[in-house]
Amino acid sequence: MISAEDLAFDATHIWHPYTSLTSPLPVYGIESAQGCELTLSDGRVLIDGMASWWACIHGYNHPRLNAAIADQLSKMSHVMFGGITHQPAIDLAKLLVEITPDALETVFFSDSGSIAIEVALKMALQYWVGGGKRDRNQFVTVRGGYHGDTYHAMSVCDPIGGMHSLFASSLPKYLFADRPKIQFNQSWNESDFESLRSLVIQNSQVVAAIVLEPIVQGAGGMYFYHPTYLRRVRELCDEVGCLLILDEIATGFGRSGRLFAMEYGDVVPDILCLGKALTGGYMTLGATMTTRAVANGISAGGVLMHGPTFMGNPLACRVALESLRLLLSMDWLGEVKRIEAGLRRGLEAARGGLGVADVRVLGAIGVVEMNEPVDVAVVQRELVQRGVWVRPFGKLVYVMPPFCISDKQLVCLTRAIVEVCEL
Ligand SMILES: *Cc1c(COP(=O)(O)O)cnc(C)c1O
Repeated sequence: MISAEDLAFDATHIWHPYTSLTSPLPVYGIESAQGCELTLSDGRVLIDGMASWWACIHGYNHPRLNAAIADQLSKMSHVMFGGITHQPAIDLAKLLVEITPDALETVFFSDSGSIAIEVALKMALQYWVGGGKRDRNQFVTVRGGYHGDTYHAMSVCDPIGGMHSLFASSLPKYLFADRPKIQFNQSWNESDFESLRSLVIQNSQVVAAIVLEPIVQGAGGMYFYHPTYLRRVRELCDEVGCLLILDEIATGFGRSGRLFAMEYGDVVPDILCLGKALTGGYMTLGATMTTRAVANGISAGGVLMHGPTFMGNPLACRVALESLRLLLSMDWLGEVKRIEAGLRRGLEAARGGLGVADVRVLGAIGVVEMNEPVDVAVVQRELVQRGVWVRPFGKLVYVMPPFCISDKQLVCLTRAIVEVCEL
């Protein structure tokens, strides 16, 4: 049980994500987590709808992941990656190369999703330096995107919903096209692609890469766009000769109903970013993968200028390897389809409700979009009272539960959301 005194200490001394230290939002003490449940320090048990922000795909305290990490811990928890290699990194890289499209052959391990993006952006720039085309130093993306909180990742996040206004005077200014308007299961219309196409054509000589979340725009609005859009992006990159960076940090490892969301468009990027569920939510780890052509291009200009202290951390690599093996050994698609059906069934009741703008589901992702931003403190309290853990942001009340959530838990989760959205 976390004491009132400790909670007061937390409120005055510890930063939480996107909060003020002078008027912090309430936080809930967690004692332990098991399967798809979080136990609060006051003993209440909550059904987890968030998978700790996309990461905990197998649920918490998984015996196989625990055993893998304990085994690695008994050998070494960390060792520098400069001049050293180890089996967990090699085995994980082998498996990543195997399960991603054939063209993606090389792996750079880093600390987190944002850093995987930083590395991808550096790779693209260094690729053009290596090719003698230093003028190709611009990034193009769409509005509504999210690629992380570090400085350069921020520069390709949505310029309105992101943090551009705060840092406008010092943030690099890149090129933003309209967000894709045609949703995942609407019928395709070429006009949706015009904004991005004309922007890239106008700047074709200076674009280093197009940066995009495939199919699912996550923290930028929980929005699912049409697979043909993604296909057109790849064609356009080929036409103007720029690189394509796909950010599968949120969507990777089955979440969208494909192992990788890019598969919906049958698209292969030049650079792929992974994170979040990579370790099954146990540790922080990012990976940036490239084609041989990109790797050779970078290397023609010298060395890749990145090398974090905790690069290729053995504990993280070992648990990621186990998480991936576990995923591939189970019927993950069956589970995701089951969750998709449960979310559709359960959340549909919210549609048409006063204040509800839209309800959408793709794979194991469910979204209720409200007309107005929700009062997080109030909504969170109401959800906790109903026994579920959901963290809304802005106008969005959304879930992406661990794949082990039961049908019964799904009913409780969606019922609580529908009730709270009706308040
Ligand atoms: C979360 C996220 C990131 C950033 O990852 P961190 O591990 O939080 O740095 C980047 N891109 C997408 C699509 C994400 O969802």
